[in-house]
Amino acid sequence: MAGAERAENDSVPAYNEVDVSVLVIGAGGAGARTAIELAERGVDDTLVLGKRNHGDAHTTWARGGINGALGTHDPEDSWEIHAADTLNEGHFVNDPEKVETVTKQMPDRLRELDDWGMDFSRTEDGEPDQRFFGAQSFRRTAFAGDYTGEALLNTLVEKAQEYEVPYQENVMITKLLSDGERCHGAVGFDMDTGEFMLFNAGAVVLAAGGHAAVYNRHTSRDDENNGDGAALAHDAGAELMDMEFVQFHPTGMAVDEDDPEWEPWSGRLVTEAVRGEGGRLFNSEGERFMERYSPDQMELDARDIVARAIAEEIAEGRGTENGGVYLDISHREQEFIQDRLPRMYERFSNLGVDMAEEAVEVAPTSHYGMGGVRVEKDGETSVDNLYAIGETMAGVHGANRLGGNSLAETVAYGAVTGAAVAERVDGPGTIPEDTHTSVAKPHLHGLQATANRDGEYEPESLMTELRDLMWEHAGILRKESSLRAGLDKLDDVRRKAQQMRVGDAQSQSFEFAIDMGFMLTASEAILRSALERTESRGAHYRTDHTEKDKQLQCNICIEQSDLGGMVLSTEPVDEPSESVRAAVNEGHELDYHQLE
Ligand SMILES: Cc1cc2nc3c(=O)[nH]c(=O)nc-3n(C[C@H](O)[C@H](O)[C@H](O)COP(=O)(O)OP(=O)(O)OC[C@H]3O[C@@H](n4cnc5c(N)ncnc54)[C@H](O)[C@@H]3O)c2cc1C
Repeated sequence: MAGAERAENDSVPAYNEVDVSVLVIGAGGAGARTAIELAERGVDDTLVLGKRNHGDAHTTWARGGINGALGTHDPEDSWEIHAADTLNEGHFVNDPEKVETVTKQMPDRLRELDDWGMDFSRTEDGEPDQRFFGAQSFRRTAFAGDYTGEALLNTLVEKAQEYEVPYQENVMITKLLSDGERCHGAVGFDMDTGEFMLFNAGAVVLAAGGHAAVYNRHTSRDDENNGDGAALAHDAGAELMDMEFVQFHPTGMAVDEDDPEWEPWSGRLVTEAVRGEGGRLFNSEGERFMERYSPDQMELDARDIVARAIAEEIAEGRGTENGGVYLDISHREQEFIQDRLPRMYERFSNLGVDMAEEAVEVAPTSHYGMGGVRVEKDGETSVDNLYAIGETMAGVHGANRLGGNSLAETVAYGAVTGAAVAERVDGPGTIPEDTHTSVAKPHLHGLQATANRDGEYEPESLMTELRDLMWEHAGILRKESSLRAGLDKLDDVRRKAQQMRVGDAQSQSFEFAIDMGFMLTASEAILRSALERTESRGAHYRTDHTEKDKQLQCNICIEQSDLGGMVLSTEPVDEPSESVRAAVNEGHELDYHQLE
């Protein structure tokens, strides 16, 4: 890795230039696992960067577990049945090749994490324990208490440090340097010093997380998951796919918004593991209402089904005072809850609620974007030298995601993409003069003009306006008129975003101003794709098209038009392999009652 200060001439803002063979944008599970694979294969000038401190990425918030058909308790489980469950939950618009890439590898990836020292919860025999998770036929969710993501990222970061992989903290990428055909690097800024940076890279791996936080009730960390990955890729000329599929997790915290102690917890995740460990849902009338919606699978049915059931109970007036329903695991012993759900127990205890004594209030919340960047087999986007993985990529989860499959995707694709990039990359390369002149320079000017700009609107208040808009117009229940109205309002927010009041490049308002651009792209993609999908499938529910339409068993893709807008098209879905088709036809499903 080489770096140099540059101030080309008076008309271009000064920037720091860094040359690397591979630039990995994002240091969560996906980015860290990619870096390890690159290092193992001898690429020694990778640079991993992230918007936060080392080891601090959204992945640390993953709670309940990571899937892989290890068969610790259920030896009849197999990667094919894992793939079949994933396709079923994805309503058969997943890319079967990607599903198989993940599920086939996962037993090995879990054993590897175990070898690298991950702090798995274990059986009496010392094997990684596996728990039930919604809509899965067997116990295949390995876990570290309810802090699985933290344990995973600690393990990966430690491994990457053994390889001495270079890492840069607190750098935000604002643009990829692409001519639409090929990516040559990226531009960003150092969030501590405000310095602009230009990265000249032989390959760029986008592992920048998802876009679930474009909704006002969401489970994401503050200031993350605003769609950076999808927006950067779209701007660079790559295709997006499946953006209409946003998972609303059934159980986010429902709180008294007027209580300052509780308010910051609104929408925060109550892990599915609470239901996996036996938690039951009740409405305000004391009825265990899942008996009406899903008598066989009950609380462990697919996330979209449980989320819509809760939304319906609330809409029909059987919700709690704080607009939720009750989740009750108090029939379990306190020691059991503390052992299996330590962080959840602690969080509620700190707020004065003992989960072993009383129920907690929950309501649906935006959790995960199944869509993202459309990629080929090894994570390649439609732009040469640009790869996308982890929550940034689309294809594995289809119309809905199984809990525990996202962490699986990060390590499985980290390994696959890392190997593919290591084989293909050949040093840093150079940014062609054309790209420098027509992409890098105008963008650096744009960044300079954004800093210290005077204007009418605070970026943070516009973000709130946008998030409210998305919840209202592209939330759990959607229909044409509301989606169209959402697009009109989005235009209005976009217009206001031209007049933002922004501080210098070290200020939070500068970060938020950049975020606004990303959020506008991701939100528009969701609204347009949701309008295009005139059916209900998985997490996408249209009140004006309540049935599934066989003709729409396809993916909706988005490209940039020549004039800069979005162009939508549909792509057919491939067939799964014979062995996975057989597993689908065998019709495995969770026997919920073995939990009772
Ligand atoms: C509360 C919660 C609980 C979850 N629990 C589970 C679970 O139990 N099991 C499961 O499988 N999944 C779970 N998930 C989903 C899972 O955590 C994520 O999908 C997964 O961790 C994503 O990993 P990632 O590496 O793709 O991205 P992230 O971990 O989000 O990392 C993104 C990285 O990109 C960086 N970045 C982003 N934008 C930029 C930019 N513009 N410039 C520079 N850097 C940038 C960030 O700083 C970060 O380093 C959960 C999600 C949430 C919100």
